[in-house]
Amino acid sequence: MLKRSENMGKTRVDESAAIFDFDGTLVDSYTPRKNTHKKVAAFLLKPLGIKSSDANRRTMLQIISKIDIEMHQNKIYDRNLWWKEAATHYFGKTTEISESTLIRASTLYWELIKKKSTVYPGVKSILRILKRRGIKLGLVSDTDGLKGMKTERIEASGLRRFFDATVVSGEETIEVKPHSEPFALMSERLGIPAERCVSVGDNPETDVDGGLKLGMKVVIIRSKETRNVKDPQPYYLVDRKRLMNLIIRLLEEVK
Ligand SMILES: [Mg+2]
Repeated sequence: MLKRSENMGKTRVDESAAIFDFDGTLVDSYTPRKNTHKKVAAFLLKPLGIKSSDANRRTMLQIISKIDIEMHQNKIYDRNLWWKEAATHYFGKTTEISESTLIRASTLYWELIKKKSTVYPGVKSILRILKRRGIKLGLVSDTDGLKGMKTERIEASGLRRFFDATVVSGEETIEVKPHSEPFALMSERLGIPAERCVSVGDNPETDVDGGLKLGMKVVIIRSKETRNVKDPQPYYLVDRKRLMNLIIRLLEEVK
């Protein structure tokens, strides 16, 4: 039986869904990262018995920035492992660092990211318009590696109220993106077949394959990482200011 959309608006596109990624798509959590790394770098020196000088802080910051890139590439999101790795890099050998120090560094990190993240301009209006058209909205985001933190950050962003369902992959699913499991779970939660879903993200590495495999239309917002990627791709690449029009067009196509 067809599920009717609760909002019986006039220009409604029925029985379709738009699924969004969180970081880099709806919320800018990348800009505050550098400053957050600085704070964590300064924090880690004392428990590691390193003198708190500008030079040492800088060295630790460079190490953390490098680890950030490597860990994201390897989809390792547990920050405790990042700081452990940072200490190893600093000393050039494995070194003792207590579990409570790791936890305190991770808490400092996430509290700062949560506080300093901002919703991208235009995001709320896109979500509002889609919702008014009766389109189901889903949010699929990978775990932050600290159970419950992603959910807390989604709440803190003020965007939770727009979504009919959320999936934190790696917490509610075994697999993280780009695996199709989190997208399949979202399609099930929304009650919308994957072929009638448009999935929107910012990272071709994580936000394309899972949705595509299930038959979703996939949209990637252009960023400085994807500025040199050329069309055609099996997904749509779009500037943020043209995102709304593209989503609407694709939702019309999948209807
Ligand atoms: Mg992202």
